[in-house]
Amino acid sequence: MDTDAVRQRLLRRRDELRQRATETNADLRHEADPLSADFAEQVTQRENDDVLGALSESAQAELQQVDGALRRLAAGRYTYCAVCGEQIEPERLAAVPYTDRCRICAEAAASAAGRGARN
Ligand SMILES: [Zn+2]
Repeated sequence: MDTDAVRQRLLRRRDELRQRATETNADLRHEADPLSADFAEQVTQRENDDVLGALSESAQAELQQVDGALRRLAAGRYTYCAVCGEQIEPERLAAVPYTDRCRICAEAAASAAGRGARN
């Protein structure tokens, strides 16, 4: 598998989601914030949280999944199902590059959804 290509694809997706969050946040705010550079630096972390808070829940969930996929990629566990440990189907990874489980486990999780099951 071409992990570099996968990483690039995931990073691009993460940038898209963050960009969307920034734009949404700017829309919500309307007024320009004339902060000093020093002060702006101090609030960067808080601002990041605010920015991500502007994303829809589904976009936030996807962003977390993309981050998780990048971590698994770095750890060499990207192609392994987080639930059963089997290899995730390559065509599934191609279709859903941030998934952390194989088709069977994903279907099991989907049918368990609503009962608060996770992992
Ligand atoms: Zn599995």
